[in-house]
Amino acid sequence: WAKEKGRDNAQFFTPNMTNAVTKKFSFEKEVNDALASEQFYLVYQPKVQMEKDNILGLEVLIRWNHPVKGLVPPADFIPIAEESDLIIKIDEWVIDQALMQLKAWRDQNLSIVPVAVNLSGRHLVSDALVTYISERLSYYGIEGRYLEIEITEGVLLQDIQRCIDVMAELKALNIKISVDDFGTGYSSLSYLKRLPLDILKIDQSFVEECDSHTEDAKICETIIYLARSLELLIVAEGVETAPQVNMLKSLGCEIFQGYFFHKPMKSPLVAKLLIPRAEIA
Ligand code: C2E
Ligand code: MG
Ligand code: MG
Ligand code: MG
Repeated sequence: WAKEKGRDNAQFFTPNMTNAVTKKFSFEKEVNDALASEQFYLVYQPKVQMEKDNILGLEVLIRWNHPVKGLVPPADFIPIAEESDLIIKIDEWVIDQALMQLKAWRDQNLSIVPVAVNLSGRHLVSDALVTYISERLSYYGIEGRYLEIEITEGVLLQDIQRCIDVMAELKALNIKISVDDFGTGYSSLSYLKRLPLDILKIDQSFVEECDSHTEDAKICETIIYLARSLELLIVAEGVETAPQVNMLKSLGCEIFQGYFFHKPMKSPLVAKLLIPRAEIA
């Protein structure tokens, strides 16, 4: 898919580590070191309704500031972490930090908006997820409606009944569920109908040329129509230009995420965008 192209897939390991077991061990150690010595941090990318200033929520994206390799993009380590339970450790850290940040913003008297965390399928279907989330929510005193989960389509196909059960527990906590990168997987309509979903995110590969290629515009239109008939919200991701925004608006899309509106940013910049609570009351 288009979004994968041109990414430099920097090798994670030094060339002399040829043994797969050694590689795995070394990666695990690097991640554990990273968690222990605060090499990971979060950035937040707003989702907006129609206008740049109308921020509906924030997606949480992990960053790794590696002592030797520099800034390592998630595409270079999340897929490796997903091969083991390391991803659960990472994503639990992300959930914890994001909720801690929400509490900090609230303590600064800012009006908070929901944060969306990306979860791997392995984590969604694990026994630990719901217990972990509900414990962290109450620890920070944050209501479940301020948390969203983003799951890619492929995950839904693995164990539908397990997904339905976990999602029902998340919904009971008022947590919203998004399908990320929608259109790149193979989820059937009947699957979508059976799951308690809230949001479909149109993959950026369709958004990229929606203003110049009729096929891409048609795909966007179809996804928007589908979302409507299933009563789901629709978010267009990876929106970079005004012509893309205009095309998507004309197709009925109202919620956008992308560099055209806001890039992912560190928490102090986000704080400047959040409205002080006194101004709302
Ligand atoms: P995603 O969840 O689909 O996130 C969207 C990606 O597109 C992000 O890349 C974001 O920085 C990038 N993006 C946003 N707006 C634009 C735009 O206008 N143009 C372009 N070209 N790109 C845009 P990022 O941060 O590198 O993350 C890549 C993927 O890594 C994410 O895709 C998600 O699947 C995964 N990921 C990121 N953080 C986490 C995490 O904490 N946990 C897990 N499990 N996965 C994560
Ligand atoms: Mg996402
Ligand atoms: Mg996406
Ligand atoms: Mg993605």
